[in-house]
Amino acid sequence: MVLGAISIADAVAHYEIAIGALYAVLILAMSYWLPRRSLIGLAMVCASLTLLSLLLSSLLGSGGDDVYGVVNAGISLITIFLTLYLLLAIDAARTAVNRSREKLAQFSRIRGMQGLTTAVAHEVSQPLAAILTNAAACTRWLQQSPPQLARAGLAADRIMADAARAGEIIGRVRSLIRGDLPQLSSFDLNAAVAELVMTLGGEFEQRGIAMLLELRASIPLVRADRVQIQQVLSNLLLNAAEALAAVPGPQRRIRVVTEPCEAGICCTVADSGPGIVAEIRPHLFEPFWTSKAEGIGVGLSLSRAIMEACGGALWFEEGEAGGAVFHFRVPLAEDRDGERGTS
Ligand code: ADP
Repeated sequence: MVLGAISIADAVAHYEIAIGALYAVLILAMSYWLPRRSLIGLAMVCASLTLLSLLLSSLLGSGGDDVYGVVNAGISLITIFLTLYLLLAIDAARTAVNRSREKLAQFSRIRGMQGLTTAVAHEVSQPLAAILTNAAACTRWLQQSPPQLARAGLAADRIMADAARAGEIIGRVRSLIRGDLPQLSSFDLNAAVAELVMTLGGEFEQRGIAMLLELRASIPLVRADRVQIQQVLSNLLLNAAEALAAVPGPQRRIRVVTEPCEAGICCTVADSGPGIVAEIRPHLFEPFWTSKAEGIGVGLSLSRAIMEACGGALWFEEGEAGGAVFHFRVPLAEDRDGERGTS
């Protein structure tokens, strides 16, 4: 419609009025909506209409001196093609910037892994250690006379669960490198926490640690990658268990709490250990800071990256009784659904 109006105005107006230049304004305005190809097509149509208007004006004799008409049509054509050229150049530059940005994101994702092999080794070493402990327990129960088949069966169950967890972790790390999005789902945080605590139960029992679970009933569903959240919790629990080796047996306690908090459900892991060593504290979430002889120091940095990637958070607080208290927040399922609905 606009095109038609411009070309009619161009045909009936006096040659000295450069109506044709309005085509350039139209092309500029349409560049926000039209893809590259359609923009070239529009410029071609505008150029043809400019020539058609010139022809009509000279046939109708409505424009005055033909020389002005030819000069004005020439200026309109130059304006149309110059505008098109500039828009295409801007588009090409924008595409190049986007491509570089994607490459940079991929590069920093790989760098952010802080050495894939180190991270994988760290995450998988936990279920592998649990498998070894449970396998030893299983053998002991079988060697007793009479063999303690029920207990051996329980240890075998834990071995299977840990082996499955190790496999899932490897799969997740692989997909992180490939750039796949985390597998978000809505789930009950209490069930995920209880499941993991049960899997690690045997190991905690052997270390003489009392586990206190305070899971708030009827909390809303959260939305995140369930396996990754269990990975974060497992990391915090095993760190707490390692710290508790430094305190006498009866004082070894870990409290796991879930409760609603601002914009999500918060999970707290508090231990009765010695707390964070002063020199580690400022670098707690930086990779490769460890106080352990066998430690790698990537667990907490990887855990924070996981929490931030799903829109949650992980932070530390000094325990009142001197132990370490870690909190992580997982976003609510309904909030994330709302976000998707409005975007
Ligand atoms: P790693 O366990 O391999 O050292 P992490 O990133 O998981 O790597 O932990 C970094 C450091 O934070 C640990 O070496 C330890 O000094 C400290 N830390 C983590 N959790 C606790 C805890 N619950 N109590 C005391 N210190 C802790």
